[in-house]
Amino acid sequence: MLVVMNKTATAMEINAVVAAIEAKGLTARPIPGGQRVAIGVLHNQGHIDASPFLGLPGVKEVIPVTRPYKLVSREFQPDDSIIRVGENAIGNGHLTIIAGPCAIESERQALTIARLVKQSGAKLFRGGAFKPRTSPYAFQGLGEDGLKILARVRDATGMPVVTEAMDHELFDLVEEYADVVQIGTRNMQNFSLLRRAGRSDKAILLKRGLSATIEEWLMAAEYIMEAGNARVILCERGVRTFAHHSRNTLDLSAVPVVQKESHLPIIVDPSHAAGRRDQVIPLSRAAVAVGAHGLMVEVHHQPETALSDGAQSLYPEQFTELCSQVAPIFRIFRPDGIAPVISIP
Ligand code: PEP
Ligand code: MN
Repeated sequence: MLVVMNKTATAMEINAVVAAIEAKGLTARPIPGGQRVAIGVLHNQGHIDASPFLGLPGVKEVIPVTRPYKLVSREFQPDDSIIRVGENAIGNGHLTIIAGPCAIESERQALTIARLVKQSGAKLFRGGAFKPRTSPYAFQGLGEDGLKILARVRDATGMPVVTEAMDHELFDLVEEYADVVQIGTRNMQNFSLLRRAGRSDKAILLKRGLSATIEEWLMAAEYIMEAGNARVILCERGVRTFAHHSRNTLDLSAVPVVQKESHLPIIVDPSHAAGRRDQVIPLSRAAVAVGAHGLMVEVHHQPETALSDGAQSLYPEQFTELCSQVAPIFRIFRPDGIAPVISIP
C-alpha cells in the first residue's frame, strides 16, 4: 500500500503518517518524488485497512499496490531512478557504456584496455577479480590483487570500476575497491548476498539469472532495496534457451517490460548473451534501439590469449565501431524527443 501525501504536506504531517503506520507494526518508507511525497507500507501480511490513514492531515489518497515487488515498482515510484556513479548518471535520458575485459589478468592488461575503451567512449571500466567459472580448473581471477589493479586503473583513468562480488563473505573486500558491485547471473537469487548488497552504499549491478523470469529478477532487486540500498541497476545478459547459435538468448523484450514495471535503470550485456564477438555489435545496436540505458561490453586487446571469455571479447577497434554505431541510434530513439545526454564523444 502507498499513502500519497498532498503536494503541500508538511514534514510534521509526513512524520505523523509514518508514526501511524509504524504503530500498526508495519514499516513505513517515505519515497520523495518530483511531483509528490508518498509513503510506502511494507511488511504487511495481507490486506491493510486504508481508512485510518485516509483521515490523517496532508494525506491525498491511499493506493493499493498490486505487484509483489514494491520498492522497485512504478506503483511506488512513478519517476525513473537515475543512479549516479562518479560523474555519470545512469538511467533514462543517458546512454552509459561500461567496457573492459572479462577478468583482470595483470596491471598492464587492465590499463591497456582501460585507456583504449575510455578513448572510444566507455565511462566505466569493468573487470572481474573473482570469477564465477563453470570449471574449478579454469582461471578463477586474481582475487584481491585484481581489486588493487582495478583501483589503480581508476586512479590512472578516472573511470569508476565495476567488479563482481561472488559471495557474502567476500562482499566487504570487494566493496572497499569497487564503485559498482556486480551480482552475477549465478547469484541472482543468493539471498544473503542480496541482503548484504542492500546494506552497502555502493551501486549494485544486478544481472538477470540464467533462467529467471522478470518477476523473479525484480524480486531479487527488491531484496536489495528492502535492505536499504536504492542504487540498483538491472542488467539483461541473455537467458538460457534451446538455441545454440549463441551462448544465451538475449531477451530484448525484457527492456520495455522492466521499464514499464520498474523505475530502476536497465542496461544490456550483449557479450555474455552472444558468447561470440560477431554478434556483439548488432545486439548492441538493437539494445540501444529498444531503449536500454546502457551497455556492458567485454573488450580485450589480445582476445586470443585472454584467460576468460576471449571468444566474445571485442577487439578495441570493434569497440570503437560499436560506440560510433550506437550513438546515432540513441539520438533517434529518445522517446521524449528531448536532446539526449550522450556519454559518447
Ligand atoms: C561477468 O559479467 O563477468 C559475468 C560473469 O557475467 P554473467 O554473470 O552474466 O555470466
Ligand atoms: Mn565474461
